[in-house]
Amino acid sequence: MPTIESPRVDEWTLRAIRAGAALVVLARLYNLYQLYSEPIPHSALLTGLVLFALLVCAASLAATYVPRAYPWWKEIVLVFAALSILSQVVVSVSSDIIELALVSMLMMMLIPSALLPWPPLWQAALNTWCLGLWIGVVVIVGRRPEDPPRWMAVIAAVAFSQLVVFLRSRQSAELEESNRKLRESETNLRKLYEASPASIAVVRLPERVYTEVNGTFERSTGHSRSEIIGKTDLELELWNDLKVRDRFYDIIRRHGAVESFDADFRLRDGSIVPALVSAVQVEIDGTPCIISITRGILRLKQAEQELVAAREDALAASRAKSEFLASMSHEIRTPLNAVLGMADLMLETPLNDEQRRYLETMADNGNTLLELINGILDLARVESGRLVLESVEFDLEALMGRVLDTLGVRAHEKGLELGARIAPDVPRALIGDPLRLRQILLNLVGNATKFTVRGEISIAVDPETVASDGPGEAMVRFAVKDTGIGIAKDQVDRIFGNFYQGDSSTTRNYGGSGLGLAITKRLVEMMGGKIWVESEPGLGSTFYFTARFKLPEATMQPAATTLSPVDGMRVLVADASAMNRDLLSEILSGEGARVTVVNACASVLEEIERARKENDPYRLLLIAAHIDDADGFQLARKASAAAGREVRIIEMLSSDDLTSQLQRLREAGIRYHMVKPVKRADVIAAVGRAMGPQTDATSSVAIKNGAIDRTRPLHILLADDSGDNRALIAAFLKDSPHKVDGVENGARAVESFKNGSYDLVLMDLQMPVMDGDEATREIRRFERETRRKRTPIVALSAAVFSESVAQSLAAGCDEHVGKPIKRAMLLDVIQRLAAQSSPVPPAAGEPASPSKALA
Ligand code: ADP
Repeated sequence: MPTIESPRVDEWTLRAIRAGAALVVLARLYNLYQLYSEPIPHSALLTGLVLFALLVCAASLAATYVPRAYPWWKEIVLVFAALSILSQVVVSVSSDIIELALVSMLMMMLIPSALLPWPPLWQAALNTWCLGLWIGVVVIVGRRPEDPPRWMAVIAAVAFSQLVVFLRSRQSAELEESNRKLRESETNLRKLYEASPASIAVVRLPERVYTEVNGTFERSTGHSRSEIIGKTDLELELWNDLKVRDRFYDIIRRHGAVESFDADFRLRDGSIVPALVSAVQVEIDGTPCIISITRGILRLKQAEQELVAAREDALAASRAKSEFLASMSHEIRTPLNAVLGMADLMLETPLNDEQRRYLETMADNGNTLLELINGILDLARVESGRLVLESVEFDLEALMGRVLDTLGVRAHEKGLELGARIAPDVPRALIGDPLRLRQILLNLVGNATKFTVRGEISIAVDPETVASDGPGEAMVRFAVKDTGIGIAKDQVDRIFGNFYQGDSSTTRNYGGSGLGLAITKRLVEMMGGKIWVESEPGLGSTFYFTARFKLPEATMQPAATTLSPVDGMRVLVADASAMNRDLLSEILSGEGARVTVVNACASVLEEIERARKENDPYRLLLIAAHIDDADGFQLARKASAAAGREVRIIEMLSSDDLTSQLQRLREAGIRYHMVKPVKRADVIAAVGRAMGPQTDATSSVAIKNGAIDRTRPLHILLADDSGDNRALIAAFLKDSPHKVDGVENGARAVESFKNGSYDLVLMDLQMPVMDGDEATREIRRFERETRRKRTPIVALSAAVFSESVAQSLAAGCDEHVGKPIKRAMLLDVIQRLAAQSSPVPPAAGEPASPSKALA
């Protein structure tokens, strides 16, 4: 079968022409046979004509086999049809069979119109020819009665064939148009496909051979299309790691698609490039195939590596900054330590008023400077992301107690009441960073004290129920409420910013650096909580914050319930502060007491009288030392007289000016006391003492910050590179029975320790030659080797960061005292460690006391 090269004739048309020509050839042969068998007039002429028509038809038939003739198929068909119909008409007319001529004519008009895809003009030419012949026939044979239906048939054939060709040509024009559009869109798609910046490939799944790739694929792999098509990725060695390839196909098999699959590919030149492949499995011609789009990410990877390197550099810089800050902190705090310490010492010497004022101003400003340095260091650490929160178990109630202890004196000095209430459903044992929680509370309560002139400051701790609370976690809400100056609405949002202070008069009146809340906010956020404030200018502020803690697995067992000494007992509480009355009432009622609270002196005696008459007298009275400026000591004496010998009285002292209050306590003959702020443990202890067997209670009570020192004389080794600090500590211990040997570096300290006999070592951490951590390790090693008893070592450091504290404790120190060192704190630590140090040597490596850090 010859292929059709001409675009103008299709296979179907060719076959139709061929069949038509063959039929006509047969018809002409039949005509010849007729002429031969039945001789008619002019048969020679007719025979010649039929022979000519036969030749034309045979030539037309032959032309269908000659491809070069294809472009002229319409002309050939027209000539062949015209001559063929002419010969038929002539033969028919000669034989006087007009119907035959008519039928042939009709067929010659209808058949090509039905079969050939030629334009209407060509059909019109054929129709015109046939119509002309028909007119000729009618003229030659003359009019006949059957003419009208024949005319109708001819005209109908002309009209019908013309209509068919016209309609078909319009349809084929439309088809051609839509084909053209299809081709155009296909071309555009192809262009997009080729121009896509991503490599696109089609892989037939059963054999995993490439069936199609775009230009980008060729360019990026370096393989040409002909090298790729029909090959597998294994043959082309495209995957750098075959395990990764297996994983890729495995994902496709399981999920039918894969997105942004990270893999390394090998190019034709052997180089390896990283790329991201997305692929989907589809069916093409009934065969499962994978269409993949691959994007090289070499630049991205390089950028990522550069970013990682830049991050490393930034981290190194930040570490350097932190180290710089740590050492600067040491450098600045060490001399400040000496200045403040000396000022403290000097304040204890006889001074005239003017000298005292100067010195107090110096000390105040020194302390402000110290706070500022601490604040800046903290903020720098938080902002550089170097502050890592600890996660240790702690007792919330004990922590709150310490906060109250720390700030109680300051609040009481200003005549403010301070108290804390922890809701019963808040877990007492929590896991978190107690030091930082304490820092937050100290800052908020410190601010509240600073900005409050009269009234009270209360801390409330409640559980905060949050939907996201996981098991073993608790969100706790703290509220620090004061009755101070309050904050204007427009400043409420700004006070948490760095260095922001309400207005310039705030700074003048109250001092501060404007950093406290900024650090607090960040710490709170690090604890997974948030901080906000509600405030009314002139009425006070409440700072709220939440923090998330973990809960220890085994929750603390509640202490075995022993019957409280006040169980069922009638107890009277007299305090002007509603907060304290509520707190005491809650604590004592919790112990089973029947509590009555009063807020004025007069009511105390009235109540005692009333109870006596009811025959249900009060057995315990808790009386505040100050009730509305009245004298609580006098009141206690009168109450004692009124209530009889059986009654026990606990005087509640404020934490400022303790010495004189204790003096008055003794003068009034009151045996029991406790020191505010009110804390559950203190109340229960005081009640226990008061209701317990009678002893000389006053002398058994340890007086806070008092100078009573019953410690045995100790031989202390002090290592500090600063001569001023050595002098300062020596001055601190001047009036104590202890003897201090000072050395200026760690190496000397180790040497002196080995050659001497010391009860305690005070070790500065940053020292030349050998630092404190190293010296401590040396001393501990020496103790183990010589099987000596463990000597307490106290780290002295200006470093305020928790990891330096942890580091020194890990090196073998027992305590950590932050600089600037306060005399009371130093004496307290020395006294405690001396009391703990046992004459029996502990086993090697076992710490002598639980490690603790005092900031
Ligand atoms: P500062 O060291 O100045 O106290 P803070 O960051 O702790 O710095 O506080 C910023 C500002 O917020 C304060 O200067 C004050 O104007 C306001 N502020 C904070 N706490 C209170 C409060 N309890 N009552 C009134 N104003 C407060």
